[in-house]
Amino acid sequence: MSQTDTQEMRQDIIDACLKMNALGINQGSAGNISQRVEGGLLITPSGMPYDTLTPDDIVFMAADGSVPPGQKNPSSEWRFHFDILTARDDAGAVVHTHAMFATTLACLHREIPAFHYMVAAAGGETIRCAPYATFGTQALSDYALEALRDRRACLLANHGMIALGDTLPKALALAVEVETLAAQYWRALQAGDPVLLPADEMRRVLKKFQTYGAQPDDGS
Ligand code: 13P
Ligand code: ZN
Repeated sequence: MSQTDTQEMRQDIIDACLKMNALGINQGSAGNISQRVEGGLLITPSGMPYDTLTPDDIVFMAADGSVPPGQKNPSSEWRFHFDILTARDDAGAVVHTHAMFATTLACLHREIPAFHYMVAAAGGETIRCAPYATFGTQALSDYALEALRDRRACLLANHGMIALGDTLPKALALAVEVETLAAQYWRALQAGDPVLLPADEMRRVLKKFQTYGAQPDDGS
């Protein structure tokens, strides 16, 4: 169910932007965030420093991709935000960052393999790296959607990463997890040949993740 566009929700998006920079998973005005709302989506404006944003700077984009006039220009990456939120029922929010280690691996066109069981947090046995395409293009969106098939995160070659979640806090938490995994994998690569977990073990972990973290008062 979509949420209503409120000033509070717009402020939550700004807070998440400030948080991704404070956490060190993004720099400057790189990256962007979107959130599904009734009738469309909310998305960060293009090229504006996050510490200057006010709720009115967050852009509403309608479900047909149109942007009602009188607003800031939406993120240059509105295409992949729009396409992901349109194609994926499981996505309520999308976070894109230029995190250091995720981007380092993405510049090598390397996916993150099953070197650690937490790779399953992104929904599969690997975190794929989408091929390179110019930022803001339909080609980049198409590649990203393909890399996100059965996954909630991917790397973008020579660019950064995308993480999605049913809520914005979950999408942001997954972005932090992907960067942590990228940093760990990078360090392991420096020391030798990381040992990969077999497919049957990753299937076991993926199954356990279906209920991991559920507590009695969740109604589960
Ligand atoms: P925007 O400022 O237009 O969102 O672009 C930042 C970015 O990360 C492009 O890929
Ligand atoms: Zn980017």
